[in-house]
Amino acid sequence: MTHERWRLLVTGVVQGVGFRPFVYAEANAHSLTGWITNSTDGVLVEVQGHTSNLERFRVALLTQAPTMSDVQDLVVEQVPVLTESDFTIRASSVGEGTTSLPSDTAVCENCLREMRETEDRRFGYPFIACTHCGPRYTIVTGLPYDRDHTTMVDFPMCSMCQAEYQDPTSRRFHAQPTACPVCGPSMSMDVAEIVDLLGVGRIGAIKGLGGYHLACDARNADAVAELRRRKQRGDKPFAVMAADLSTARALVHLDEHAEELLTSAQRPIVIAPAIDHELAQSIAPGNSTIGVMLPYAPLHHLLFDAGAPSVLVMTSGNLSDEPICIDESEAVDRLSAVADFFCHHNRRIHVACDDSVISVGMQVVQPIRRSRGYAPAPFRLPLSAPAMLAVGGELKATIGLARGQTAWLSQHIGDTTNFETMRMLERTVATMCEVQRVDPEVVVSDLHPGYLSRAWAQDWAVQRGVEYQGVQHHHAHAASLLVEHERTEPVIAFAFDGTGYGSDGQMWGGEALIASLASAERIGHLAQRMLPGGDAATDNNYRIALAHLHAAGEPWQDLLPPVAHAGEQELTVLARMLETGTGCTATTSVGRLFDAISALLGIRQQVEYEGQAAIELEAWASQSDSSAAWLADVHDDLTIDPSPMVRAAVRAAITGTPRADAARAFHLGLAHTVAVVAERARERWGIGTVGLTGGVFSNAVLTWACRERLGAAGFSVLTHQRVPANDGGLALGQLAVVTAQREGKE
Ligand code: ZN
Ligand code: ZN
Ligand code: FE
Repeated sequence: MTHERWRLLVTGVVQGVGFRPFVYAEANAHSLTGWITNSTDGVLVEVQGHTSNLERFRVALLTQAPTMSDVQDLVVEQVPVLTESDFTIRASSVGEGTTSLPSDTAVCENCLREMRETEDRRFGYPFIACTHCGPRYTIVTGLPYDRDHTTMVDFPMCSMCQAEYQDPTSRRFHAQPTACPVCGPSMSMDVAEIVDLLGVGRIGAIKGLGGYHLACDARNADAVAELRRRKQRGDKPFAVMAADLSTARALVHLDEHAEELLTSAQRPIVIAPAIDHELAQSIAPGNSTIGVMLPYAPLHHLLFDAGAPSVLVMTSGNLSDEPICIDESEAVDRLSAVADFFCHHNRRIHVACDDSVISVGMQVVQPIRRSRGYAPAPFRLPLSAPAMLAVGGELKATIGLARGQTAWLSQHIGDTTNFETMRMLERTVATMCEVQRVDPEVVVSDLHPGYLSRAWAQDWAVQRGVEYQGVQHHHAHAASLLVEHERTEPVIAFAFDGTGYGSDGQMWGGEALIASLASAERIGHLAQRMLPGGDAATDNNYRIALAHLHAAGEPWQDLLPPVAHAGEQELTVLARMLETGTGCTATTSVGRLFDAISALLGIRQQVEYEGQAAIELEAWASQSDSSAAWLADVHDDLTIDPSPMVRAAVRAAITGTPRADAARAFHLGLAHTVAVVAERARERWGIGTVGLTGGVFSNAVLTWACRERLGAAGFSVLTHQRVPANDGGLALGQLAVVTAQREGKE
């Protein structure tokens, strides 16, 4: 039998996930000698032994790697055989390349078992962790990933923790977050105390993995109402944490896939159709869904084990629109008017990370917010990118970094309309560049001249002497979809959202594009409508309805809800504005069409949070199984005229059509219209794939209906699976567009 020596370079998420002990065990199991080391290129292994064993070893690395790891590439090279007698783990070396940081992960079964074992030295310890679980991204301050480059550097290990840390057969071998009650972090309150306070309806600010949560008993209507009032939250839904899966099943309808997501190591908030439950009605007013998650940090399990209310509101510890609080003084400063009590701990959070949100239902699974547990897992770009930074749009901002064929999308940052959020964006840029070792040569933003993130990117480019490039909003949406499906051929893309700056300087939001990574041709769009008062009209969506009525030539009859809602004087002013165009902004937004229909059907005239009118319209639509559809007119130039839909809504309002049926007819009609446009585009351009992107496609009823209708017409349909359809995905699309455009120029 032949004897060989191989050098393997393993890249992807392979550090901080128990990869070295795994390789150590596999090498021994296959009687191989050699060594392994972490480098900034990834994990470097040399192994020597019989060829057949080497081959089995290679397969094991690919097929049996630890759950938190994600091997992207494994390169094997044969090197000269050496004289050696064992397999060792060598100290980390520093290379030139880059590896990907692991994400934060829910506490694993083994740690949970130990935490509940009275004899264990970590019994009841809320910071228990091992190589398979615990904080990662939120505590990392640099690379290579070792304890000195995490906030655990504050906690020198005791001799027992140190011994486990150095033992390659231990589950805590080089587990950077490992600690125990003797040497590790601690909390400022007892679990029993927290449980008592939550039990009597108090609101707590509790420091967790990626920031503070505001928590209270979800069945206590007074507590929930009080939290809503103090947080100045309007009607925006609260997410809840259920003690366990069976508790969650009593709150929402969960199919197999939804349960998988709910119990996954990422533990996102899963938004699912609500069942009649006994939670406070004010959890999610006007919604037919609830966002539920399961315990993920050891503390959450300790709270429920100790008898905390079995469903807790768990919402980000922030004030409206501001980033989540991560340190003690900041939390006390900003949340003292909201929380009755504070539970701090002294493990520093270096990177703030909100809970991730995924919506399920109507056979549609959609990421809404990609953050804790997912960020900063890498994406593969089809082309090689220069070192690049992208700062996304304005709302739901995330940032992206790229180098070579790897792109990283940050955690959720928030609405960059205020100073606090811009500061978090700046911090995130600094941290991500540091830990992923990217020194950007190009910085990219949206084209909108009013976005703070654009001004920031342009300044940054000047200060650093790097290049700046803008990318059109809806092209970036489409490109993000193409990247996640690793598609390089053009598709017919429908980019429907609230608003985005068009390449003609107008406000867009109902776009049909032939989109590839490098280019987007606008082949059709929703017909322009006037927004009296511009984007400010979005809070008063009855005005948008009035504008759509005006454009459709429908009289403003008193019995129509938006007409009744407006004052006499206001109607006069609005009529004049719409006649003359004074003080109006034109838009092709489909999001605004949803706002208008919602008002016409008497569902909502004014909104308290972004998208509320559309979300409630969808909630009504999901309650009907009518097959009626209100079609729009599609003109030869592929302009979509929504006037027939508006007229249908007027008829429905006047004749008293059940609201659910009317809402559904609008959704089905829009899906049908999308299919008509796609069919005509297929005839002209010969493209058989359709992509659905933009925040409007967070709507499960619409996405489902489009997929059905397009599928029946023979299209293959791309929807978002890993990146949000909303502006949270823009940064990834921006990276891909610039990469492809540069490739084209060379
Ligand atoms: Zn563990
Ligand atoms: Zn210890
Ligand atoms: Fe958008």
